[in-house]
Amino acid sequence: MNALFLAVVLSFLTGSTLGATWSYDDIPSWATNYPACAGDLQSPINIVSDDAVVDADLGNFKHALFDRPPQSMLLKNTGYTLQVDLTNGYIINDSSLLPGQFKAAQFHFHWAAPNAAGSEHLFNGNQYWGELHIVHYNTKYPDLGTAASEPDGLAVLGFFMADDYPQDNTAVERIIQPLVDDQVNYYKENATYSATFSMETFLPNNISVYYRYQGSLTNPPCYESVVWTVFSKPIRISRRQANIFETMVFENARGANDTVPINNNYRPVQPLNYRTVTRSSYCSGTGSFSMPTFHFTALCATVVGLITVPFKNSGFDKITEELSDGNAKYEGESVEISPFPINDLLQWTFLKSYYRYLGSLTTPPCYESVTWTVFEDPIYISRSQARVFEEMVYENERGHHHEHLYNNYRPVQPLNGRTVYTIDSSRLYNFDYDD
Ligand SMILES: [Zn+2]
Repeated sequence: MNALFLAVVLSFLTGSTLGATWSYDDIPSWATNYPACAGDLQSPINIVSDDAVVDADLGNFKHALFDRPPQSMLLKNTGYTLQVDLTNGYIINDSSLLPGQFKAAQFHFHWAAPNAAGSEHLFNGNQYWGELHIVHYNTKYPDLGTAASEPDGLAVLGFFMADDYPQDNTAVERIIQPLVDDQVNYYKENATYSATFSMETFLPNNISVYYRYQGSLTNPPCYESVVWTVFSKPIRISRRQANIFETMVFENARGANDTVPINNNYRPVQPLNYRTVTRSSYCSGTGSFSMPTFHFTALCATVVGLITVPFKNSGFDKITEELSDGNAKYEGESVEISPFPINDLLQWTFLKSYYRYLGSLTTPPCYESVTWTVFEDPIYISRSQARVFEEMVYENERGHHHEHLYNNYRPVQPLNGRTVYTIDSSRLYNFDYDD
């Protein structure tokens, strides 16, 4: 056993002095000295996207939340990980994102051995090369160390890391530059960045999809004090950069006889037990997100099918009567109608059951910018109302030979790797069309 683990060490997460040691070489014994490690709400877990319950109350994390640099940043080798302590980090104060006001205190990494995978959370059973954790504490407590043992004390944002990027990630390069410069490669070494930078610089472009559950610190003392947010899109780094983590960070002090690289500093997944994992819905309002070369605003689309029944839908008459009166029948024509609640169209329609997936506009330019919500129950209209659409709408301008506007639908497209989500019937709630 390395001498490091015989010494009294500091917990890298809490910074508190503890009278016992722990090692990634002997994870099953953690609970002996740290009983919380045997609890029911432990982290990490395997996140199964199909089992996650969509929670429409979860808001959008926007990049702007992360764009304020801290006052200072200290990179240190803790013997367990590479960690950056933040002075005066950003604060997230949005109850749709986190249950309280949380302040960023530090971030650190978990990674693999060469030719292995080392993320802590799994995603649908897959382990990524590594994982970044940004640790925040609830500002109702004075500091990270105090908050760490409180049930509502911590919020950790987890980002998978993939080592498949064809070039160096310049933002991550800035983080590991002191390693390249041989400043923090050994235990207890540290370096202050001459220029601070924001967390926004190294986050994935798309942070709109994330998973949420209640869990713990992933190393002793394993306090069950963490509300976890795990984002689905990884941070991507190059193989060269992954190799720097794998081979240039050591758990022993500089000058020791046997140098041991820090590898596989992750905890295996823990049982979910009775916990529920929830998922952001993509679509709480219009969130904008950025792509490498252009920016666009994500759209939300809602679909309710139409079916004919032997009675009239009086709400639909507000549309069909205009057509019957000769308005908006031809290309380019429009008519202003007095505003009415969309709910008037939805008579008898049961709105509690729906499906959701990420898709596109169904007509050119077919931008893949749409969160679709498709309801199971249709809108009911009468045959005579349907006939108005079929027989009284033309695709040409008024005065020309009449061509009926028919079959204005696009055939179905391949699902490819996408998942279609549905609502958990135990958590039914109403879409509200009153506005
Ligand atoms: Zn961690």
